[in-house]
Amino acid sequence: MRLHGTQMVNELGHLEIGGCDTVELAKQFGTPLYVMDEAHIRDICRQYHSSFVEGLKNSEVIYASKAFSTLAMCRIIDEEGLGLDVVSGGELYTALQANFAAARIYFHGNNKSREELAMAIKAGVGRIVVDNFFELSLLNELAQEMNQRVEVLLRVTPGIEAHTHEYIQTGQIDSKFGFTLPDGTADRAFDLALSYSNLVIKGIHAHIGSQIFELDSFRHEVQVMIDYMADIYKRTGFLLQELNLGGGFGIYYASGDDPARISDYAQTVQVALENACQKQKFPRPKIIVEPGRSIVGTAGTTLYTVGSIKEIPGVRKYVAVDGGMADNPRPALYQARYEAVLANRAKEETTEAVAVTGKCCESGDMLIWDIDLPKVKSGDLLAVSCTGAYNYSMSSNYNRLTRPGVVLVAGGHADVIVKRETHSDLLRNDVLPARLKYLQMASR
Ligand SMILES: *Cc1c(COP(=O)(O)O)cnc(C)c1O
Repeated sequence: MRLHGTQMVNELGHLEIGGCDTVELAKQFGTPLYVMDEAHIRDICRQYHSSFVEGLKNSEVIYASKAFSTLAMCRIIDEEGLGLDVVSGGELYTALQANFAAARIYFHGNNKSREELAMAIKAGVGRIVVDNFFELSLLNELAQEMNQRVEVLLRVTPGIEAHTHEYIQTGQIDSKFGFTLPDGTADRAFDLALSYSNLVIKGIHAHIGSQIFELDSFRHEVQVMIDYMADIYKRTGFLLQELNLGGGFGIYYASGDDPARISDYAQTVQVALENACQKQKFPRPKIIVEPGRSIVGTAGTTLYTVGSIKEIPGVRKYVAVDGGMADNPRPALYQARYEAVLANRAKEETTEAVAVTGKCCESGDMLIWDIDLPKVKSGDLLAVSCTGAYNYSMSSNYNRLTRPGVVLVAGGHADVIVKRETHSDLLRNDVLPARLKYLQMASR
């Protein structure tokens, strides 16, 4: 397993993160456990800040909180001077409860409800990114009722196919997101938005996909978007001043993944922007990028305890851990690949190929199909790396498993930032109608 951030193997042969021995973390907090490396998160935020905010004049970095949204994470992002993107009332609520300045929040989503939009207007979020015609008129109507003028970006689908898994491609024409650009739908949306007196159009937005390694995809996106902004200007005389390029910057999960550097990403955007603006004689807009995965992905590690081991001679050896698709659905959803190490014996030679499976009642509940480990024993501690993004935030109670806790580690300290769920948490919202109570008793 490649080590990330502050991960290291200490003299006991244990994996250490943020100066905390993971064997001790497992003892203290139990498993499964999400461990977030605070110094690593802050380091990446600073790389984004220096590459974009400082390196590329008039730009902003917005953390896409759907990757990992908690109060503590919102505070870290705020302290690091980045903005925040939210995609639901729940994420907005989390940000507001964390005292995140509403003016630095962008609100996304392809089906925002009336209540969510009203909540966003009331809170005074910086930008609402309008996705479709339904939302356009609903938002204008709401803004009128609330006597507000709302600053918006229009999300367009530019017709770019980023090279990534099809479930996380979003720029192609056949997408549920945004106003289609090539067929003129975006023009119609734009003209309509211009006629709505309570909306102020600040710019346009596109998000072409996720886990993108080829910087060329972003170069292409900048070209298409600047061409379009110039087009709008020629057609209507309206000058858009903001270009939000979305997120999608890829990260390392397992061997074969070869992400670019954040500074190269910024440089690519910079050069593409200069070229495109020059070609179109278009004034350089403010640039916004929205990384999610690349800010938290490699900063997260999940600790599991090994339980049952099943060997099918000549076929496969299944090593089962005490979590699985309920805490990490990505392998089942996207065939995502991960690396892992025996955290209690991290220095030992790998001697056998095994498959790491979860404890859910699904054959698809696999975490890693093929991995070389030392001879695994029940009771070993397995650390799966790069689980910081889209793991906790996509976790479920499938099979009524309780969601793991999350600890934030730094400088030898571990702070719980999300408590482990208990069995009684599982019943928090269960309601037993009176007519069923007797039956339940009778069946005892
Ligand atoms: C998901 C999403 C992002 C973040 O994508 P990552 O791949 O995590 O960087 C940014 N913007 C929008 C609109 C998104 O939907």
